[in-house]
Amino acid sequence: MIEAPKGTRDVLPDEIGRWQFVEECARETFERYAFREIRTPIFESTELFARGIGEGSDIVAKEMYTFHDRKGRSVTLRPENTAPVARAFIEHQMHRAPGLQRMYYIGPMFRYERPQKGRMRQFHQIGVEVFGSDHPAVDAETLEMLMAFLGRLGLDDAELALNSVGDPVCRPVYRKALLAYLEPRRDTLCEDCRRRMADNPLRCFDCKVEADRAVMARAPAITDYLCAACREHFGRVTEYLRAYGIRHRLDPRLVRGLDYYRRTSFEVTLQGLGAQNALLGGGRYDGLIKELGGPEVPGFGFAVGEERLVMSLPAAAAVSRGTPEIFIATVDERGVERALLVARALRRVGRRVVFDPLPDKSLRAQLRRANDLQVRFVLILGETEVRERAVTIKRMSDGSQETIAEDRVGARLAEMAGA
Ligand code: AMP
Repeated sequence: MIEAPKGTRDVLPDEIGRWQFVEECARETFERYAFREIRTPIFESTELFARGIGEGSDIVAKEMYTFHDRKGRSVTLRPENTAPVARAFIEHQMHRAPGLQRMYYIGPMFRYERPQKGRMRQFHQIGVEVFGSDHPAVDAETLEMLMAFLGRLGLDDAELALNSVGDPVCRPVYRKALLAYLEPRRDTLCEDCRRRMADNPLRCFDCKVEADRAVMARAPAITDYLCAACREHFGRVTEYLRAYGIRHRLDPRLVRGLDYYRRTSFEVTLQGLGAQNALLGGGRYDGLIKELGGPEVPGFGFAVGEERLVMSLPAAAAVSRGTPEIFIATVDERGVERALLVARALRRVGRRVVFDPLPDKSLRAQLRRANDLQVRFVLILGETEVRERAVTIKRMSDGSQETIAEDRVGARLAEMAGA
């Protein structure tokens, strides 16, 4: 038997309702804030991610699905979508449009990770990006939108943690202080962290090794090193959040290690997911567009893991959508053609109809199936009905039945459904 590749999974029809609910909620919410969808390719030039995420990051160093195409070009299945959206922004010269550009995306991402609970090789993200302003109101409004989205999904225990990672003025000073703290502790750190110390010591905060996390928990905090402009920016973001009444926790050790990340950095955790399983991450990346060869345009965004979101939905959100309302049962071949025509007529007026052409099955078996499908009505096309161009309607809620002319079925069902 051929199985789905390791680290991937099928989303089956029984669970798709929750995915569609989340996605519709995202579109609905984001569009209220003037975000529009963008769809970029699933694969890109490898160089985009090397530059857009950073050569020394875990993702680029060991998690990318990279291969050579038939012409020997190195391409990579996207491990995240901020770099691709930034690439599209530059390629289509979106900075020329007046005002801010706000975009969202929903789609699969690929990382070669060790599969475990909540960690897949193909997973999905719902994300947004705002380009064109470094005003702290952009940070605050986008965070408010995020919390509104999570609220609509019923995730009321979502905890927002926030920090500022400074800018090219103050971060070098902090970096020095951090290195001064780390140097004497080098031997206690994992190999990855020792590499990170040389590359970019801020990344040591991303380390998942327990002992290293303990070391990092006592490291100097970047918040004590922010320059006046960064301090002012962060102060205003948190002021706006207070004005909104959005609960948040300041976490001075929430650090994103790449150079083009600036100022606001945040994460949302859910109790059920555990401390290392963030639901989402995001922040400001004012240097990214420039790094990718575009103009100096600031950006802000976040990406939510859709698997984790769907997994965390309250049971009450287990919506089933698109399930059939009407089941058509036939008892012989002559009923089949009538059933096809009746079903078409009903679908044309918007009804969801299921017709399984299995006239050899007993009527009783077909009714059992209709019951399992939880339809509201069964239409029976028995011998007499077919002969008289009639249909028997059985209402499942009370078992009542009536037989009416075939051409009145649509109108009668509308009456009964409304009642
Ligand atoms: P990141 O792009 O690493 O900041 O991740 C953003 C969010 O995507 C995380 O908080 C997770 O919810 C989700 N995510 C990242 N990697 C995976 C993965 N391998 N499997 C499932 N979800 C993931």
